[in-house]
Amino acid sequence: MKKYHIGKSKIYGKGVILDRDVKKDETIFVFLGQEITVTSGDWFHRPCSLQVGYAKWLMPSSGSAGRYLNHSCNPTAGVHGKNKIVAMRNLKKGEEVAIDYALSETYPLWHMRCHCKAKNCRKVVKPYQDMPSQRKKKFIKYTSKYIIDMKMHLNWKEYIALEKKRGNNKKSY
Ligand SMILES: [Zn+2]
Repeated sequence: MKKYHIGKSKIYGKGVILDRDVKKDETIFVFLGQEITVTSGDWFHRPCSLQVGYAKWLMPSSGSAGRYLNHSCNPTAGVHGKNKIVAMRNLKKGEEVAIDYALSETYPLWHMRCHCKAKNCRKVVKPYQDMPSQRKKKFIKYTSKYIIDMKMHLNWKEYIALEKKRGNNKKSY
């Protein structure tokens, strides 16, 4: 059974509103849609899409929840795996499901003016790589899988340490 409806958002336009309480880490919905691969020279912002890989985005089917999934700098939900939208904490019926777009978006030129009204609103939201490492760590469990697979959550020092642990320390950096 669906756990939400599309209703009036307190953030922007219409949003995904919970019809019942959900528990932390519970899947609220799976972001479904056509997967597109953007080849070089064809970059442009696709509203409401979810990035799921290097140069890969899911375009939400019309009327689907993904189409109305708003951004908040104080998100209630995040991404598990490729495209599962899960609760970041226990949520109450009536709360809006909103993710931090920067936890899945890495296109370098992407940015968005934000009016989410959260106390910690960044005003301009930029891609993952521009996020402070403290925030990256805080939300690591709710970050798109391809970002973790690409080791984009690590800073240079952590990356070198990981390489050394793997025995790849023959190269000099
Ligand atoms: Zn904001």
